[in-house]
Amino acid sequence: MMTSQSSENILFGGLEAGGTKFNCVIGYGNGDIIARQIFPTTSPQETLTRTRGFFEENVSVHGSLQALGIAHFGPVEINRNTENYGKIMASAKPDWSYTDIVGYFSSIFDVPIAFQSDVNIAAMGEHYFGAAKDIDNFIYITVGTGIGGGVYVNGELLNDLRHPEIGHMLIPHEDPFQGCCPYHKNCLEGLASGPAIRKRWGSPAETLDRDHPAWELEAQYLAILCVNLTYCYAPEKIILGGGVMQQEQIFTLVRQRFLSLMNGYMSTLDTAMIEQYIVPPQLAGDAATKGSLIFAQQAYDSNSVHLSFGGCLK
Ligand code: ADP
Ligand code: ZN
Repeated sequence: MMTSQSSENILFGGLEAGGTKFNCVIGYGNGDIIARQIFPTTSPQETLTRTRGFFEENVSVHGSLQALGIAHFGPVEINRNTENYGKIMASAKPDWSYTDIVGYFSSIFDVPIAFQSDVNIAAMGEHYFGAAKDIDNFIYITVGTGIGGGVYVNGELLNDLRHPEIGHMLIPHEDPFQGCCPYHKNCLEGLASGPAIRKRWGSPAETLDRDHPAWELEAQYLAILCVNLTYCYAPEKIILGGGVMQQEQIFTLVRQRFLSLMNGYMSTLDTAMIEQYIVPPQLAGDAATKGSLIFAQQAYDSNSVHLSFGGCLK
């Protein structure tokens, strides 16, 4: 049956399933969150059971949910036309490889379930509610345990069936450390992710001083990233988020190096506008959770339109 609720009070479930923590929320399509629970990512069975428990408990308090939006750590299969749709593929967390996330939740909850990579949904969150509001061409990058990016072109996620692997772009450099990516030498993730910084300098990134030489090198890598993204996609904004970007001093360094590497080639990108071009996120830790709520709303809307059917999570 279709529900008769107005869109303002339709409740959705959202899940940011990260490699280190699961952030479960209940809220509305306007990004408002009314309940939340965060717990560490352990085995698939334990973590998914806790997630299920969160949603079931909150449904008994707040009422039925009408759709679930899932923003999952990768690699995820997001193409509905493949047999692995909704699964984690061969993962750096081996016990998660081939876990059927959509299958798990759809066997429990009879609601539309939307499934995407965490970085694409974080980009969606920033687009609807944060630093890229009203901007149709932008890129959201996360620099954390890995490096990934979500690209918006003309108001749509680029290739939302097989999105770009920005983190593995190859980076020219003179530093002798060739990176820690098991697949390539000299890729951005292997050189500039949190684990890469730890391996290169011998201490966790968060313990290094603000003026440690690590940050000059990090800024150089991220500036090369921003130059390459600018030439490939001509975005209106590049948002740099993720744990490593909590080192706010990096932004000034990245902007300076970016301008120097561009060397005036695109004349609109100058010192006057660079602070609006390379920016931090506005939603901080909530880009993917708020994004997962709008993503759930989209699944609900398209289900209502195409199928005239709305199950609900009771
Ligand atoms: P994940 O990528 O697992 O979703 P994060 O985006 O928080 O999670 O990234 C975690 C990485 O960020 C870790 O490698 C950690 O060393 C690094 N990190 C976390 N906090 C900081 C900080 N304040 N400064 C620099 N690096 C940090
Ligand atoms: Zn790589």
